[in-house]
Amino acid sequence: MSLSLIAKSIKPSPTLKLNEKFAILKEKGDPVIHLGGGEPKSKAPMDAMLAAIAHINTGEVRYAPADGIPALKQAIIRYTEEFYERKVRPENVIASSGAKQAIMVALQAILNPQEEVIFPAPYWVSYPDMARLIGAIPVPALPEDGTFYPSIKDITDRVGSYTKVVIINSPNNPTGAMYSEDFIAEVVEFCEKKDLWLIMDDIYHRLIFDGRKPINCYKYAKKLDENSKIILINGVSKQYAMTGYRIGWAVGNKKVIEAMANIQGHQTSGPSVILQKAAVGALNGIQSGVESLRATLENNRNVMISLLNSFEGVRVTKPDGTFYCFADFSAYEKDSNKLSEFLIDKVQVLTVPGKEFGLDGYLRLSYCGSIKDIQEGIERMKWALDPNS
Ligand code: PLP
Repeated sequence: MSLSLIAKSIKPSPTLKLNEKFAILKEKGDPVIHLGGGEPKSKAPMDAMLAAIAHINTGEVRYAPADGIPALKQAIIRYTEEFYERKVRPENVIASSGAKQAIMVALQAILNPQEEVIFPAPYWVSYPDMARLIGAIPVPALPEDGTFYPSIKDITDRVGSYTKVVIINSPNNPTGAMYSEDFIAEVVEFCEKKDLWLIMDDIYHRLIFDGRKPINCYKYAKKLDENSKIILINGVSKQYAMTGYRIGWAVGNKKVIEAMANIQGHQTSGPSVILQKAAVGALNGIQSGVESLRATLENNRNVMISLLNSFEGVRVTKPDGTFYCFADFSAYEKDSNKLSEFLIDKVQVLTVPGKEFGLDGYLRLSYCGSIKDIQEGIERMKWALDPNS
């Protein structure tokens, strides 16, 4: 079949594929445990549900502005002021169908084919394919010191005449590493000096542990407001456990937001109004759910890490945030696809192969499920991999 070259270059999202596999096995009645997921299990905040229902009850069903309804833009403006101490205006904000679309539309607004986008590795699975969808070139930067914490040199070494944008995701999916304040400051300063765009994917910025505080990238920026080339990404998916509602956003200078709005206007005409209303409810409503989710995840992380430390062949770095840990299983099997398949076949535990994130020999394990699933899942893995211990 004569599909496009771009379509042929794109792989399906491995995490979405895994969710489908989980559903199929579950349907068959298999006692499968999903340690590969990327979503908290809690319900949406009550304020989000009520706001969505209230909107449905109005009977209002018309098109809305492609870049987001005014009430959501106002909620995002307030959020940006609270967490980033930046006063932005509606023309600096776009709401999209998830942070995923916000990042995609941002890349479409700034990248030309053959231009390069640098991001630290291990990286979120979608960044390379998003670049490829535009005909641009993904340039992963694996830290040279073998840690999950890149240095500025890891980034600067990869900059060339085609480099247009750097993406930073901290705390990071899949490693859970929260990059140091010094590193963020250096990246902001470097991108300004080289006139590069900087996409700050802050989707996990409130889900951090051990008393850490979210880092505000604008603190280190000299170019602000309409001169800023920082595009700040966030959304309700992770912090409010609203993954299926598909609302995320970007904050940036007026020109880039206008370009993104034009592109999004032709793609989707904007996210569903019902779901935007739900996001307004979440952002303006009672916030205690975010802290209780964060505290639950911190406890889950502790449980998972102590269980993993009991394996003979696993090396693991304690995550600083998110709900993932990225552990080195290469002592058992260097090919992470094979290992992941083996664990499904042998003990029916779903994990994501590290290869998908740019580092083979590792598995990404999620601790956003129940403690029972974490304990049983890891115990089954131990039984399969360390049968004599
Ligand atoms: N950025 C990162 C690093 C993620 O891990 C995810 C989701 O897994 C997203 C963006 C996309 O979030 P959303 O569900 O809001 O599209």
